[in-house]
Amino acid sequence: MNRWIALLAAGTALSSCATAPVEVAPPAAQPTAEPVAPPPPAPKAQIGTFGFDESGMNRAVQPGDDFYQFANGTWAKNTQIPADKSNFGMFTALQDLSQQRTREILDSTKDDPASKIGAAYASFLDEAAVEAKGLAPIEPWLNEIRGLKSRSAYAVLQGQAARNGVPGLFGGNVGQDDRQSDVYIVGLGQAGLGLPDRDMYLLNESNFAEIRTAYVDHMAKMLTLAGEANAAARAKAIMDMETRIARVSWTREDSGDATKIYNKMTVAQLKRLAPGFDWDSYLKTRGITVNELLIAQPSAFKGIAAIAARTPLPVLKDQMLVNSLDAFADVLPNAVTAESFAFFGTKLNGTPQNQPRWKRAVDFTTANLTDEVSKIYVTKYFPPESKAAMETLVANVVSAIGRRIDNLNWMAPETKVKAKAKANAFKSRIGYPDEWHNYTYDVRRDDLFGNLLRANQWAHDWNAQKLGKPIYRWEWGLDPMTVNAQANFQLVAITFPAAILQPPFFDPNADPAINYGGIGSVIGHEISHHFDDQGAKYDASGNLRDWWTPADVAAFKRLSQELVKQYDAYEIFPGANVKGEFTLGENIGDLAGVTAAYDAYRHTLNGQEAPVIDGFTGDQRFYLGWAQVWRRNYREANLRTRLVTDPHAPSTQRTWITRNFDSWYNAFNVQPGQKLYLTPEQRVRIW
Ligand SMILES: [Zn+2]
Repeated sequence: MNRWIALLAAGTALSSCATAPVEVAPPAAQPTAEPVAPPPPAPKAQIGTFGFDESGMNRAVQPGDDFYQFANGTWAKNTQIPADKSNFGMFTALQDLSQQRTREILDSTKDDPASKIGAAYASFLDEAAVEAKGLAPIEPWLNEIRGLKSRSAYAVLQGQAARNGVPGLFGGNVGQDDRQSDVYIVGLGQAGLGLPDRDMYLLNESNFAEIRTAYVDHMAKMLTLAGEANAAARAKAIMDMETRIARVSWTREDSGDATKIYNKMTVAQLKRLAPGFDWDSYLKTRGITVNELLIAQPSAFKGIAAIAARTPLPVLKDQMLVNSLDAFADVLPNAVTAESFAFFGTKLNGTPQNQPRWKRAVDFTTANLTDEVSKIYVTKYFPPESKAAMETLVANVVSAIGRRIDNLNWMAPETKVKAKAKANAFKSRIGYPDEWHNYTYDVRRDDLFGNLLRANQWAHDWNAQKLGKPIYRWEWGLDPMTVNAQANFQLVAITFPAAILQPPFFDPNADPAINYGGIGSVIGHEISHHFDDQGAKYDASGNLRDWWTPADVAAFKRLSQELVKQYDAYEIFPGANVKGEFTLGENIGDLAGVTAAYDAYRHTLNGQEAPVIDGFTGDQRFYLGWAQVWRRNYREANLRTRLVTDPHAPSTQRTWITRNFDSWYNAFNVQPGQKLYLTPEQRVRIW
């Protein structure tokens, strides 16, 4: 598992017809009679006069009452979420732009018989061929499941499912050993649930009871589509089994604790811990030969193996049938695609419509031949100047973090030395990777299902072959077309794909305050992940080990708990609050990230005040730049699901991190009595 990768934002799902909010470039100057060259036009920000969309503000709201609404209220009121999206904001607008650009790339390749990406794209677009084949392409796999006769054969099939990209009772793969980051190891984690979180099986809060009913109904429909009889009762039996699995599963908070989930054991120990599942057969089928491995949630493994041993084989088989249809729903006939979307898209996230076929074809090709698409994309859409400008920004924010560490009053001097060594060790990865994968599997124009199956198997086997090899440090977990950013603890790396290095995050022609408030804070956020509640446990070499004094740990815990309380208090729907502990790492990322970006911005001013632009001071523009990138409207179902599954707080509450900064109070004259006001003692300061 890539457990120790933190993202800037989750679920920035692809799609929609809206385009990014960019202005058209001004027309070129007309030639004049005089042979004097006209002065070059002043560079112009792509949004507004300085990089911020003032028309999206709601100035009727006081910044101190709701800074998100002040900066973004008119945008929020006037922005509809497209029918094929669960949410819409700045991330999604840029993701749409990536999708449109990728479509143009793929359109130009789809008639080229030698092009692999062209063949993959064409195979997805050929809807008539997919409908004509029906379930025939997946039947051989479904028949293997139906023909299962023994529990040993079940473990073999679970291993095969992992290769095929079908979720099983256990997940995980090869990754860096947390305590020896230059060595690969197999890490396995709990799985076996079709709903996104254990709480949805066990609790009656929010809309969970309704989701459970819809889930059983969905499984029954999938079994019926597979041609199975007596589907309702069989779906209920799967639900009963998954509810038992939910009871023994760890919470997201526990599963997110790097120390708790580091449990190295031999395969022999695993067999003693979790009898009832044929581990040898499972690992062998996955091509994994090891003596030792990491088991994330030992008690859950014991529980799930026992449940698997007790559950009648037909129920285990039915769960695999349903999971297989859901995993391949996008490449099967519309009846299957639509049923899978009705549950996962509409019921769980409120999205009324699936994306049109061309968008899904773009996503399919990008997901499975990522680097083949990326190579073309970055030459067309990632100017080298952006990389150079980003390198300067990153260096300035890293320096600001270093100064912050020097000035901390709660950290021991010897720990500060190590913390600064870690800050200096960061590798920043900007735009696109240094090397590309070579996809050696067959891509056929007339075999969409087979293309996905072979892609999944290739990805699995590529991962498995890493055991015993040096670390592939060039490998990214994000593609350049993705609007996101990433911190990787074991690589001590921060990653910024090309697609996020665009307005409103980053615009070389915008006012620096906007760039520092936007991408500067994103950079600070990613760096700060390396010092969040989990990232801080890793040293300058990316190893999980105790490098703090006990007093440092105690002080950090106490300060973090204040932030937990601040976020726990945000009630989004009656009875449904932000989970302060679950979102802590991201909130520390925002708290420290904005702080560092602000410091870096002020540092560039050399003690001067920035000019006032359109009536806004430099500090005001900095915080508006931060607020602007979080413009996002959610469908209710999506936001409810996110409260349980997304380690990031909702966009409004992320924006409100500003209430912890004295400079924000000064910039907007925030006063006691206003809703976001905190006394100086209540403001959380960690880094
Ligand atoms: Zn993050």
